[in-house]
Amino acid sequence: MTDCLFCKIVSGDVPAKIVRESAGTVAFRDINPQAPTHVLVIPRDHHPTVGELAASDVELLAEVVREAHQVAVDDGIAETGYRVVFNTGAQAGQTVFHVHAHVLGGRGLNWPPG
Ligand code: 5GP
Repeated sequence: MTDCLFCKIVSGDVPAKIVRESAGTVAFRDINPQAPTHVLVIPRDHHPTVGELAASDVELLAEVVREAHQVAVDDGIAETGYRVVFNTGAQAGQTVFHVHAHVLGGRGLNWPPG
């Protein structure tokens, strides 16, 4: 999609601190990190929400989740603990409608989230 911020990160038209790439995904550091590790993993293809991705390409969703775990391994937080979050819909705080997994860790995380 031409007007999608995360599609522009995939194409390189918007710069980002990319930490991992796979055939179907790109992972980059969040511009406004909420934890020492805060990385977004996105599919290269445009899908607005995790529900729509699950319905149309569950293998690609699995790749996003695998890459989220690898981000945690790479940042050294896989053993201590990390959180993977898909904000879905405006009331849940989704602001960019290109599905993304937030990978958060490196500090204690409260439950329930706000
Ligand atoms: P959401 O609120 O949709 O779950 O998450 C969107 C995330 O994208 C937010 O955490 C926000 O900080 C991040 N974000 C917004 N614009 C940019 C950008 O231009 N570059 C990067 N790296 N992250 C962004």
